[in-house]
Amino acid sequence: MFFHPMDFLIFIAFGLAMWAQSKVQNNFHKYARIQASAQITGLQVARRILDQNGLYDVTIERSNRGDLSDHYDPRAKTVRLSGPVYSGSSISSLAIAAHEVGHAIQHGRGYAMLKFRTALFPAAQLGSRMAPLLFLVGFLFFGVGSVLGNQVIGIGIGLFAAAVLFQLVTLPVEYDASRRAKNQLLELGFVTNNEQAGISRVLNAAALTYVASTLMAVLQLLKFIMIFGRRR
Ligand SMILES: [Zn+2]
Repeated sequence: MFFHPMDFLIFIAFGLAMWAQSKVQNNFHKYARIQASAQITGLQVARRILDQNGLYDVTIERSNRGDLSDHYDPRAKTVRLSGPVYSGSSISSLAIAAHEVGHAIQHGRGYAMLKFRTALFPAAQLGSRMAPLLFLVGFLFFGVGSVLGNQVIGIGIGLFAAAVLFQLVTLPVEYDASRRAKNQLLELGFVTNNEQAGISRVLNAAALTYVASTLMAVLQLLKFIMIFGRRR
């Protein structure tokens, strides 16, 4: 009960996630030291790409939450960039600024995967908070095998599955934002063909962390299904 065969795979996925995380940091810092030839800041790049796409109503703010806290907030229609991205003009700054604007473009164009992801968010958030509690309550108070226990655990698995689905849908959304970022940077002449390789490395490393954490979540879901599904 305490060590499940699936834990071995989860441990490997965890290692992969840690490795991907360090790769993101390394690539970010490596290309943060290389200035792009365009000599333009992340803020300027973000504004130009937004305007180019007719997104004049999307605002850009400097976020104070530290490195790699960059994100797009669809409710406030605001791109928030961390200090080094906002005022920096390195390859990393340009890559991340353009990626976050990629999400704003998805939102502006009504990109279906982003809509689906936004719709899943409440269930996913509830799932990641409530599922462990429901497993515990179902298991301790009613016992696996009792009808009520199985029902509570079943709801827990359902909610956890919503959280996993949310992570799965995040993958194409992130990939698409990076694809848009690379296209816009090249089309608007902000990066040369040579600099494009650095942009890709920064963005691909970030995508890898999403893949690794999603893999972990999928394996965890399979483990729950294997444990509780068998005991019915
Ligand atoms: Zn993103």
